[in-house]
Amino acid sequence: MTVVQAMRDGDLDDEPAPAAANPRGTSQTIAGAFIRRAQRRHFLLYNVGPFAGFVVAIALCWWVPVGPIEIGLLAGLWALSMIGMSLGLHRYFAHRAFKTSRAMRRVLAVLGCLAGQGPVVSWVAVHRRHHEHSDQPGDPHSPNPAHRGTGPFATARGLWHAHVGWLVNHEYPNPLYYATDLVRDKPLMRANRYYAAWVVAGLVVPAAIGGLAHGSWLGALLGFLWGGPVRLFIVDNSILSINSFSHTYGSRAYRTGDNSRNNAWVALPTFGESWQNNHHAFASSARIGLQWWQIDLGYLVLCGLEALGLVWDVKRPNAETLAAKRII
Ligand SMILES: [Zn+2]
Ligand SMILES: [Zn+2]
Repeated sequence: MTVVQAMRDGDLDDEPAPAAANPRGTSQTIAGAFIRRAQRRHFLLYNVGPFAGFVVAIALCWWVPVGPIEIGLLAGLWALSMIGMSLGLHRYFAHRAFKTSRAMRRVLAVLGCLAGQGPVVSWVAVHRRHHEHSDQPGDPHSPNPAHRGTGPFATARGLWHAHVGWLVNHEYPNPLYYATDLVRDKPLMRANRYYAAWVVAGLVVPAAIGGLAHGSWLGALLGFLWGGPVRLFIVDNSILSINSFSHTYGSRAYRTGDNSRNNAWVALPTFGESWQNNHHAFASSARIGLQWWQIDLGYLVLCGLEALGLVWDVKRPNAETLAAKRII
C-alpha cells in the first residue's frame, strides 16, 4: 500500500478529519471573559487543588505511614485514569484509532473524565487543534512557537507555557468546529455533562474504601488523599509532560514538520504517549511506541481488549507506511 492509498483509506491521517470537514465556516476558537474565568476555575480546582493535596499527603507521611491500601488505591485509580486518558480521550475519541461498542465508549468517556483533564469534548477539541497547528502559532500548548523569543531563558519559558501557563490562558477551540462528531453523540454528551461528578466520584470512592478498610476517619482521609489528589497530581503532570518535554527533548525518527520528539523519560507514566514524534507522524495509529523497546502500556492494554473482542479494527501503520516518513 502506498502512502497516498493509506491516507485515502484512513490508515494514515496526520490531521484529524473534523477540522477539515467544516462546511459552514464555524469559528475555530471561542473567546470571551467567561472562557478565561472557566479556564482559571478549572486550573484552581483540577491542577492547583491536586498539587495542594499531594503536598498534604507527603507531609502526613511523617506522622502516618502509608500502607498497601493507599498504594493500591493510588495504583488502581491511576491505571483506570490513564486508560481513560490514553485509550479513551486520546486514541479513541480524538483519533479514532480503533472501533468499539457503545457500552465501551461510555466506559472510556467516564474513565477519561476521572482523570480531571477536562470534559471529553473540550479535551478532544484542544488536542485536535494541537495536531492542526503543532508547534506553530495556534497550537494551544506548544513549548516552541516562534513568539516565545530567544535568549537564555527561551526554552524555560516554552516549557513553562506548555506545562502550566497555557492552562490559564489559551484560545479555546470551538467544539462545533473541532469535535462535531462528538457533539452529535448524545450518550457521550451526557457523560461529558457530568464531568465534575465523575471527578468527585474519583475522590469519594477511595475515601470510602480507605475508611472501610481501616475502620476510621483517618483511613478515609488517607484513601481520599492517595486515591484522589495524589493520583490526579501524577496523572496531570504525566499528561502535561507530553506537551512540554516530548515537544522539546528526545529523538526524531519520522518527518512531521513540527518539533515532536520521542521521549523515553516519561514513556511509562504516560502509558506510551511520550513517543510524540511517532504519534505526530502517524496520528491515527493505535500503536504509539513503534519499536519493540518503546514502552507503550496503552497499546498493551488495547491488545488485551482486542483479544477479548471488546475493541476491533485497531489501526497499525504497515512497514511501507512507516518507511515513507522515516528520517534516513
Ligand atoms: Zn503533540
Ligand atoms: Zn494526538
